[in-house]
Amino acid sequence: MPHRSESESRKLLGKLRTALAEDSAGQARLNRIVTLIAGSMQAEVCSIYLFRDAETLELCATEGLDAESVHQTRMRLGEGLVGRTARSRKVVNTAGAPSEQGFRYMPETREERFSSFCGVPIQRLGNTMGVLVVQSRDARKLTFDEVYALEVVAMVLAEMTELGAFVGEGAALAAPHQRPSMIKGTIGQEGAAEGQVFLHEPRVVVLNPISDDPEAEITRLQEAIDTLRTSVDDLLSGNQSLSGEQKQVLEAYRMFANSRSWKKRMEEDVLNGLSAEAAVEKEQSLARSRLTRSGDAYMRERLSDLDDLSNRLLRILTGQGTDTGAEMPDNAILVARNIGPAELLEYGKTLRGIVLEEGSVGSHATIVARAWAIPLVINAKGVTTAALNGDKMLVDGEQGIVHLRPDETVQGAFREKIAMQARAQERYASIRDLPATTKCGTTIRLEMNAGLMADLPSLAGSGAEGVGLFRTELQFLVRNKMPRRAELSELYSRVMKSASGKRVAFRTLDIGSDKVLTYMKPNDEPNPAMGWRAIRVGLDKPGVLRMQLQALIRAASGGPLTVMFPFITLYGEFKAAKAEMQKALDREERLGHPLPSDLKVGAMMETPSLAYAPDAFFEEVDFISIGGNDLKQFFFAADRENERVRKRYDTLSPAFLQFIKMVVARCEKAGTPVSFCGEDAGRPVEALCFAALGLRSLSMRPASVGPVKHLLRRVDLGEVQSIIDQSVADGDASVRRPVADWLAYQV
Ligand code: PEP
Ligand code: MG
Repeated sequence: MPHRSESESRKLLGKLRTALAEDSAGQARLNRIVTLIAGSMQAEVCSIYLFRDAETLELCATEGLDAESVHQTRMRLGEGLVGRTARSRKVVNTAGAPSEQGFRYMPETREERFSSFCGVPIQRLGNTMGVLVVQSRDARKLTFDEVYALEVVAMVLAEMTELGAFVGEGAALAAPHQRPSMIKGTIGQEGAAEGQVFLHEPRVVVLNPISDDPEAEITRLQEAIDTLRTSVDDLLSGNQSLSGEQKQVLEAYRMFANSRSWKKRMEEDVLNGLSAEAAVEKEQSLARSRLTRSGDAYMRERLSDLDDLSNRLLRILTGQGTDTGAEMPDNAILVARNIGPAELLEYGKTLRGIVLEEGSVGSHATIVARAWAIPLVINAKGVTTAALNGDKMLVDGEQGIVHLRPDETVQGAFREKIAMQARAQERYASIRDLPATTKCGTTIRLEMNAGLMADLPSLAGSGAEGVGLFRTELQFLVRNKMPRRAELSELYSRVMKSASGKRVAFRTLDIGSDKVLTYMKPNDEPNPAMGWRAIRVGLDKPGVLRMQLQALIRAASGGPLTVMFPFITLYGEFKAAKAEMQKALDREERLGHPLPSDLKVGAMMETPSLAYAPDAFFEEVDFISIGGNDLKQFFFAADRENERVRKRYDTLSPAFLQFIKMVVARCEKAGTPVSFCGEDAGRPVEALCFAALGLRSLSMRPASVGPVKHLLRRVDLGEVQSIIDQSVADGDASVRRPVADWLAYQV
């Protein structure tokens, strides 16, 4: 193979563009392309292998190998030199292919005649889609320029594959974005949903990878980079409230935006025939594949900054972006890499389902989704690259599975599942007004968790006896400025009225951790979950707490009021918070406002230390609400947002149950009511075990009230207790299995 100059690789792209523009079917296009590349590279063989599924590559077109083997020859990822190219995502360039490690002879292709092999991954944004191969008889390694030309062509092929240019008559492969696929994630919130994908951050689509006017493209690229630089500079200089970390990221952006080598590489790509956006994407792809390979945390962070910056540049060049103008469909399933509670609240309750590439069961975004009973799958790897806006999607929250572009059979089975769920809901509705009284005659009070006005209608619908946890911070999260006292008081009063006399336990502001208010000065902390949050903020900067307490007293308007303080770790903190309440009462009295007829002030137990507070605390506090989500993360030292560690520890482990039992005993001794309001209270088996341990009040998301009540009404708590005792005596790591097995016999 003779040396090819750069201008020749541009010529090759020019021919490719003509071939792609021809109105031929997918397979014909592929055939034409391989012939063209082989001719232009003066090689005997050019072949294109594309992924049939995640593990299998298929020969889709060839010039030079046996034509009969097209769509017949397949290999697994890692198998042979083609599989090795795909797996390593690196070019394999060798003069002596048959003696190369991993070489696999494919008799049907009759490729034994060829000595040299050059495989170039066809990849787009870190996603390998296939392999472009050039082979020839004479034993020579391709030059740097030749490999470069193939890389440029592979980049264009990736774009065209993405756009579905090779789909159609005769082509056995559908474009990746037209194929059905199933993604296995983790359960975030049960339930089934059918709808259309709505991407939180839509990807940019490059429609014109090849250009015939390099000068004009260089100018476009230069202008876009200038705009990018200005926007980064503006962000840095115009935003005084940036945290140290945000500044660091922007500094890194500035460094990349001004990087000469980055710009030079892209300009070279443009001079070789790529459009400006394709050149940006080529660089981005390279950075992504380095990102997936790099074990160095610092390097990974910088590469991911570069990735983000490339996206910005692409948006500038294409005019596409977060604001693509795509309307959210009525049956939207939100697909995102991750999402914070404030952003999710902005989307609102109308979402049919949510699928996150990352996410965590313990995050507040998950809690919001659970509160709204929106099916949620987290850890759905690759979903943000596989899904396109408008794609059909089925979310199976029960199994943590997502079906993307499902075929008719899958859709049929899924609809049957939705119908089954509706029947279960009817069963729960029939016991809505009955108490959660067990077979042994114990009644458990079931309340619901809420946080927004929109949650209140569920109080009647779910059969909950009150609101055991009203997360007041959600009101703060949905706004872009600090609410005023009058607004809060009006809102709390509406909440109380909507509860029609049922108790609402208002938890004072719990900000910090993953609940960040954009209008408050950011707080740069190494570990926000264990940082300055909740009552710690309330006591150190009491302005907002005072305003909130006054708003609550005014809203009660002489009626009963229940307030609880979050994240109380020490008795002293409770005393200080209660003193704030007393101050607020005194002030309101002085102002002539009526005081609550019956005021209950409680504490949330969210750290193990509070369980060991002095007796005086248990006697003084009006009630205790166990915030199991936080309590568990500190009990097991396992971040509630880190799926990897969170899953290791079961709520139903003897250690945690023993701890809860101890808290219940201390409360009983002091005559203090205790309830459990973490997410576990809404999981039927957990709820059952808590009841068996002596908890008589549970607060959960509204949709859980029915299933929990249904289960409690069928059991004898004494029997559950003995199963738990036996399991603990047997040394089980968790009582879940024995309890679930026993339950299976009760139905
Ligand atoms: C908890 O920690 O269990 C709790 C109810 O509070 P949140 O989930 O809002 O932190
Ligand atoms: Mg908490």
